[in-house]
Amino acid sequence: MNETRAHVVVIGAGITGLATAHRLLNPLDGSAPGVRVTLIESSSQIGGKIRTSSFAGIGGVDEGPDSYLARVPAAGRLAREVGLAASMTNPTNAHASVMHGGLHRIPDGLMMGVPTGAMSLARSGLMTWRGKIRAALEPILPASGDHHDSVGNFVRQRFGREVHELLVDPLIGGIYAADTTNLSLAAVPQLADLTPGRSVLLTARRRRVTTNTPGPVFETPRSGLGALTTALADSIRRRGGDILTETTVTGIHRFGRSYRVETTTSSCDSDYVIVASPAAVSSLFLRTLSSELADMLAPTEHASVVMVTLRVTGTDLTRFDGMSGYLVPKPDQKRVTAASFGSNKWAHWNPGDGSMIMRVSLGRDGAPTHDLVHEWDDDRLVRQVVDEMRDHTGVDITPVEHRITRWENSFPQYRPGHIERVATMEAILMAEAPGVRLVGASMRGIGVASCISQAESVSAAVLTTVAGIGAVRD
Ligand SMILES: Cc1cc2nc3c(=O)[nH]c(=O)nc-3n(C[C@H](O)[C@H](O)[C@H](O)COP(=O)(O)OP(=O)(O)OC[C@H]3O[C@@H](n4cnc5c(N)ncnc54)[C@H](O)[C@@H]3O)c2cc1C
Repeated sequence: MNETRAHVVVIGAGITGLATAHRLLNPLDGSAPGVRVTLIESSSQIGGKIRTSSFAGIGGVDEGPDSYLARVPAAGRLAREVGLAASMTNPTNAHASVMHGGLHRIPDGLMMGVPTGAMSLARSGLMTWRGKIRAALEPILPASGDHHDSVGNFVRQRFGREVHELLVDPLIGGIYAADTTNLSLAAVPQLADLTPGRSVLLTARRRRVTTNTPGPVFETPRSGLGALTTALADSIRRRGGDILTETTVTGIHRFGRSYRVETTTSSCDSDYVIVASPAAVSSLFLRTLSSELADMLAPTEHASVVMVTLRVTGTDLTRFDGMSGYLVPKPDQKRVTAASFGSNKWAHWNPGDGSMIMRVSLGRDGAPTHDLVHEWDDDRLVRQVVDEMRDHTGVDITPVEHRITRWENSFPQYRPGHIERVATMEAILMAEAPGVRLVGASMRGIGVASCISQAESVSAAVLTTVAGIGAVRD
């Protein structure tokens, strides 16, 4: 091994850390890797929020994310690069609905829940006529000018309460497990990009025409997203990278241009440290490096959710034919926030005996603290799902198999001002510890594809610095 190569320690073997380590060892430009890589993971498993296991006799049914945005080039590129090209699949054409006094198909032509025309809203039974007319007035409203950095406030101002409550909040809030009134608009780039100009609706319509790339929106390996994290880990090891599991980082110290990373089992010296663990835990071990940075990271709030996976039977299941699932807007919510009819959404998740696999999500940011669903026992969770789904759909489901996955503190919440806070933290690091970078779901995008994009950017920046091209390290 060439010990003169720079050593990069990556903390956290979720998708961000794995993609970063892989990309450092297999640069996009095809050059030979100029670095040695150690990936440190506290748990016994790699993958972080990506977890796939067998269920109902089907080899890979995801317990967390089930797919990523196919239109983010970095993600598809990575999956194919690690050998998954032949196994990629996309959701069926089944449509999603919103539950509001019954199930209403989500109107066509939305961008992140924002309408791009009045007609599809007019045809939908989801909103009242008053709500539809209010939304249709958006193009003639004056420009918003300066606005508070909140998705909810902005959308209400432009389109009225119903578009916010029944479309944007369920769709965007579902992705972030968020209450969109308390979610930064600037941190949702697909929506923030629509805000310059006078009318959001007209900008969204133009954007839809010019950026409407054909092809599916989501993709995943047929055996589940765990195939991606496993393939990445294999690639890292094959390229000489080290992956240490059951090793928790407890502190980082700077010594001039290098860093000592302390863990529960040992310590190691490195030239660069890429932190890809959740903000609240990162704040604990970054305190030894910068108390100012740790103080900024520590208060990051995270929402907890529970994923209830069921195999169900029932005489009326055919009523769900053609439906991929539904979202429950906050005014209609008890505990269930969304139900995904897995066997309709993914052709390969069909047990083939008339039963169905469903994935039902409970819990979100802002849910009452006396009512934390991740603390409920399994039976109570399953009963709740069955009762609520009967109320929502009129269909009596009978669970014949269930799997409960509690994702405590799993969704970092991008509060108003998030992007500015991230920029401040990056500036602090640049001044106090220029070899250390922060990436991952807590920083610049929560989705799997955003995490992979961040991994690509940070590894390119580190490799550029190592190669002595562009910015010098400090
Ligand atoms: C239920 C659920 C459903 C989702 N659905 C989707 C979806 O369909 N599509 C989508 O794109 N996204 C989805 N997401 C979001 C997405 O899965 C996550 O945001 C993303 O996987 C986070 O990746 P990450 O690598 O940044 O962080 P993580 O996956 O959280 O990985 C961080 C890693 O750091 C480790 N770690 C923590 N502390 C330390 C320490 N001190 N030392 C060493 N290691 C440490 C952790 O054990 C963990 O493995 C979903 C998330 C959840 C929870």
